[in-house]
Amino acid sequence: MANPTVAIVGRPNVGKSTIFNRIAGERISIVEDTPGVTRDRIYAHSEWLGHPFNLIDTGGIDLGDEPFLEEIRSQAEIAIDEADVIVFIVSVKEGVSDADEAVAKILYTAKKPVILAVNKVDNPELRQEIYDFYSLGLGDPYPISGSHGLGTGDLLDAVIAEFPDNEEVVDDPAIRFSLIGRPNVGKSSMVNAILGENRVIVSDIAGTTRDAIDSRFQVDDDEFVMVDTAGIRKKGKVYENTEKYSVIRALKAIDNSDVVLVVLNAEEGIREQDKRVAGYAHEAGRGIIIVVNKWDTLKKDNHTLKDFENTIRSEFAYLSYAPIVFVSAKTKQRLEQLPALIKRVNTNHSRRVQSSALNDVVMDAIAINPTPSENGKRLRVYYATQVSTEPPTFVIFVNDPDLMHFSYARFLENQIRAAFDFEGTPVHLIERRRK
Ligand code: GDP
Ligand code: GDP
Repeated sequence: MANPTVAIVGRPNVGKSTIFNRIAGERISIVEDTPGVTRDRIYAHSEWLGHPFNLIDTGGIDLGDEPFLEEIRSQAEIAIDEADVIVFIVSVKEGVSDADEAVAKILYTAKKPVILAVNKVDNPELRQEIYDFYSLGLGDPYPISGSHGLGTGDLLDAVIAEFPDNEEVVDDPAIRFSLIGRPNVGKSSMVNAILGENRVIVSDIAGTTRDAIDSRFQVDDDEFVMVDTAGIRKKGKVYENTEKYSVIRALKAIDNSDVVLVVLNAEEGIREQDKRVAGYAHEAGRGIIIVVNKWDTLKKDNHTLKDFENTIRSEFAYLSYAPIVFVSAKTKQRLEQLPALIKRVNTNHSRRVQSSALNDVVMDAIAINPTPSENGKRLRVYYATQVSTEPPTFVIFVNDPDLMHFSYARFLENQIRAAFDFEGTPVHLIERRRK
């Protein structure tokens, strides 16, 4: 089930990014060096007392040359749109400012819980001064000091107490997928076309309140949930077309999906932002399908499709496992193929293979292509086992992990892929020294 989202809002300089980093802590990690991915420190996974959540620093969403008040207004609206719980930060140093009052006014309209945190309360004496902030009309202010790390525990206790109650959720067999891509590639058009073509069903599963923003439909005997579609359909906000906002949308959708459709625009070709968006899905270990939309706009000959495919393969080299489909939301060309493909990728993403079959493949691989050696020491592979799924993750026990070169690991992965169907899913190999 989807993790709740917590958004931090407040005017500039109150300490939002300090607190974001404090809460996200070391959990922000650079997982993998995927080309095109720059780490934006405005979205992170975190956890408090066993409650995982996503954290957004709306202050990091730069809306270009918007006037100051417009910008914080938009940031507050993003928080209202995206978050389950909003943390509104003010500063004891400057007291209640006009900008704070403006933000508070917008937050009144939110039907979401708002927790008021007064930052820069660096010592106990300053605690006397937090009472002024009752005037914001948002309940008890929580004193904190982002730079000293004081009070964040009590703040997070208050935050998790507001999380939607998910205890009742029954196991949902539906396949969850999302469409991600930069603005204008045709995501909303595809969402509407897919829903138009399939039998949409109203969920009666208890506890799936957040499904309100998702769409559920059925194809034959399979249920699918298209994640996060309400947000896609809602258009015309000032921030809709900013890159950081679309990145946050994408990251959130990826988190809540089994399979991600990375949508490209045939008319405009591949852009830097496409690679970043795809990189996030790859890093998150989700099943991936590359969907080239607006296929109707191209004048085609016998080479058009193959050429486009080659370009994708070279621009997205790390996604060599992802199938590619060429569609048109406008003419509906090949859209009917998507559900079956999503199902197949989902099956592969959760595939578990038998240890004996896996070890046969690994040992055969070593027989064809002997392990490398370095300084007279040869890599020895003892045993392989699948430790998890989604994505399939294998531990390979060896004599010395340093002897496993990238190219040899890639070779083993390719042999595993040749033996079992892992189309559409990343596969993780972990080398471990045998004790
Ligand atoms: P943002 O613009 O709201 O993201 O604010 P920043 O996190 O960039 O912080 C603005 C300034 O306030 C920086 O100089 C921080 O070092 C400082 N700051 C942040 N938290 C605290 C705090 O708890 N106490 C004090 N004294 N300064 C802080
Ligand atoms: P989003 O920002 O990714 O959600 O993109 P939209 O769905 O809003 O589409 C952006 C524009 O591209 C709109 O004007 C659509 O009508 C148009 N569009 C979407 N899909 C197609 C397609 O398959 N073919 C053509 N010709 N235009 C499309």
